[in-house]
Amino acid sequence: MTERRMDDQRLTRRALLRALTGVAATAALAACGGTPTATSAPSAAPTMAPTAAAAAAATRAATTAAAAATTAPSVAPTAATAAATPATAAAATTTRAASPVASATRSGSPAAAPPPAQLVAVAATTTQLQDFVKNVGGNRITLSGILKPNVDPHDYETTVQDAQTIGRAQMICVYGVGLDAWIEKAIANANAKAPVVTVTAGIMPLKGSDKEPSGDPHMWFDPTLVQQMVTTIGEALAKVEPAGAAVYRQNAQAYNAQIARMDAQVRGIYNQIPVADRKLVTNHDAFQYLAKHFNLTIVGAVIPSISDAAEPTAQNINDLIDTIRAEKVKAIFAESSANPRVAQQVAQETGIKIVDNLYGDTLGEPGSDGDTYLKMMVADATLITSALK
Ligand SMILES: [Zn+2]
Repeated sequence: MTERRMDDQRLTRRALLRALTGVAATAALAACGGTPTATSAPSAAPTMAPTAAAAAAATRAATTAAAAATTAPSVAPTAATAAATPATAAAATTTRAASPVASATRSGSPAAAPPPAQLVAVAATTTQLQDFVKNVGGNRITLSGILKPNVDPHDYETTVQDAQTIGRAQMICVYGVGLDAWIEKAIANANAKAPVVTVTAGIMPLKGSDKEPSGDPHMWFDPTLVQQMVTTIGEALAKVEPAGAAVYRQNAQAYNAQIARMDAQVRGIYNQIPVADRKLVTNHDAFQYLAKHFNLTIVGAVIPSISDAAEPTAQNINDLIDTIRAEKVKAIFAESSANPRVAQQVAQETGIKIVDNLYGDTLGEPGSDGDTYLKMMVADATLITSALK
């Protein structure tokens, strides 16, 4: 719950007016909290490979990362974490722990990890991206994450430590679609020579808001798009360290198989909601891909008040309230990384409940139910479904 983006000022009716926008049932989604102007990030990503065959192969490849993890670097935070993700344990700036889900089921590398001196130093920007890289890189990399859990990626300012991380990296993974465009300047300033891999390269984004000229960046809510990113990461690592190519590709396939299983599980959860009740009002427009992939409808969005989007009018607000009532929307959903106060106010006015701990732009703290991508998707589905069914 760090890095709250809204200041703690009084929420008067006027503030509410500023902070809220109604969106018609067509869900013209509103601005996403100040995405920096984004020219596309440099792209070194290879083209995607189909993942269907990969899933089948990965199913066969499953099991036991632990055996391969014996060469984990000595700074491992816990034995369990080291066993699951030895590579990340060495990363000075990484605090995330492996999830029980991932460590229990993720496919391990068939080969022993190289000695620590030979591990590939990888830097990655967003928390979800770090998780993808961690799963693909396994025990052949050290991962340094730039963003920490619960920090908004849209307008992050890099630190001196980030510059050092970038300078040391042998591969820099950026997300793209304008979400982490701030990294470009840091890469330039660090005079980094490492290849920069934009994991979303080649994926066509949905249309974003006026503030998202590169498109809607929240693609991780569609697991099939994440599978493309994972494949891209595997191919990029294979290029950077050809000796590990087979391992990276196998890890990518195995993780993609886990993602496929999560996708099916999450779909099953959402399918418990009666079709007529599958309506979302959120405090952030991050959920367009989620709605599309899992057959939900976004009927309205509340914008964080820090957004400098055009001020909604009283009419906008009344429209949203009318929509909530007419559509019999049961809840407003807010992200854990955004201050939910505005949404809470709207919920009070309409007499519906607020669910304020969805995972959106960032994973949760280690130990939370959203500390990995796979877990965050299940946690969101569970929360949304329990509020709507
Ligand atoms: Zn966002």
